[in-house]
Amino acid sequence: MIGNYVGALKNWVELQAAYESFFLVADLHAITVPQDPVDLQRRSLEFAALLLACGIDSGKSTIFLQSQVPAHLQLLWVINCVTSMGELQRMTQFKDKKDRSAGSIHVGLFDYPALMAADILLYRTDLVPAGEDQEQHIEFARRIARKFNGRYGEIFRIPESYTPRTGARMMGLQTPTTKMSKSDRNADNYVALLDPPDAIYRKIKTAVTDSGSEIRCDASKPGIPNLITLYAAVSGEEVSSVENRYVGKGYAEFKRNLAELIIDFLRPIQARYAMIAADPAMLTEVLQSGARNARERSERTLSRVYRAVGFLPGEGDHRRRTGGWRSGSERQSDIALPSKTKALHDRRSIMETNETKDVTAAAAAETDAEAECMTDCCVCCCCDTEEECSMEE
Ligand code: AMP
Repeated sequence: MIGNYVGALKNWVELQAAYESFFLVADLHAITVPQDPVDLQRRSLEFAALLLACGIDSGKSTIFLQSQVPAHLQLLWVINCVTSMGELQRMTQFKDKKDRSAGSIHVGLFDYPALMAADILLYRTDLVPAGEDQEQHIEFARRIARKFNGRYGEIFRIPESYTPRTGARMMGLQTPTTKMSKSDRNADNYVALLDPPDAIYRKIKTAVTDSGSEIRCDASKPGIPNLITLYAAVSGEEVSSVENRYVGKGYAEFKRNLAELIIDFLRPIQARYAMIAADPAMLTEVLQSGARNARERSERTLSRVYRAVGFLPGEGDHRRRTGGWRSGSERQSDIALPSKTKALHDRRSIMETNETKDVTAAAAAETDAEAECMTDCCVCCCCDTEEECSMEE
């Protein structure tokens, strides 16, 4: 819907020129509320097609279905194990949904921010372009990343949120005091990107305005400022220039022009969507190739995480190569641990038993160096692949 476009998608399209970008259709998140299976399949493809129609370029960016990249769920578990219940209970979106859910609330909905943190952190993300409603979840991802890094070494990059200046929080057309949402039961509360022109005219015409007649962003009134923001975000103009153009003009003319603006804006998107929807083989190929790339990239981070927490590599797991086993006797263990894992283990045991003061500076430095190295083993911070990387360990 149009709120998603101005709050997030517009920035996604623009940022892909400057950043390597990953866009996922969040089908795992979708089932945090009940979904009809056939409908979920249809809507997942519809979403992917809409991303392409809006200008996401599959040649530049990676587009994939979240459920096709297992690392998201694997990292989720690790994140769950460093997240307290209280942190998730404080999330505003969870509290809102819980209050509206007549008693039955699922663990998945509660855990939603942890999965979102996995979505973000797996790709060593710098920027998360999103609407204002996601800021608290992005802050949670930052906090988890710091907490994990503090405990296990510098594995995660700390992401920044990126919200648009205009339209970061579009409000409902009929209820301008609540956020515009695609899951609203009242479809007149939003303009869907695939709405036909007559529906757009009707929705904008019946959108709630305020008492008075001025077309101006008066902070005490919810309706007209929301429509002005929508106008400015879609046209790319400043809010003030929209206000100036409509000085002395009436709501009816303003709403008619806004409807026309949105219809003209959506026309090419809808035409591209029709072409993409008519070629399901192409869409499948885009999503399969996106999932391949996303799997490759996410598993790289996941393997660093797994090594850091102390999971041993499985058979054929080339990315979780441990760099050999230490010979000789190991402290508190009959079985030799891989050297890097042991370095961190030793360091943590020292901290936990409060014996740090007894360790000589030289021994501490040696342990630190080894633990630090562990975060970049297999692929160092400068290389993208093991093949490129000349580091032995
Ligand atoms: P969702 O609809 O929750 O899947 O959100 C997809 C993206 O659109 C996220 O980045 C949201 O922050 C953004 N978004 C959702 N609703 C709005 C809204 N009413 N105004 C601005 N951005 C929004």
